[in-house]
Amino acid sequence: MEVKTLEDKDLKKDEKLYIKGIRLVNSVKIDYKTQKHVSFIVKGDNELHNVMYFDEKSQDKKWQCDCKWYTLQNKLCSHIIAANLAMKN
Ligand SMILES: [Zn+2]
Repeated sequence: MEVKTLEDKDLKKDEKLYIKGIRLVNSVKIDYKTQKHVSFIVKGDNELHNVMYFDEKSQDKKWQCDCKWYTLQNKLCSHIIAANLAMKN
């Protein structure tokens, strides 16, 4: 499976979040990988977050996070940005 990372323009849409994402890149760890999923653990300021990549979902649903920001607003969060940046490196 090839992980399709989000485009730079989407990652950079909100500059503050993007900067936060850059700061978290080194805190991204791959938890496990299956044929269709990748699970990432991202250590935030105070807590751990679980970012999931779903190969079978449509482009806008491939990347999901368990944090409040993502869950309530359904927008990219700094954890998803960090996981994407980690995969691009
Ligand atoms: Zn998040």
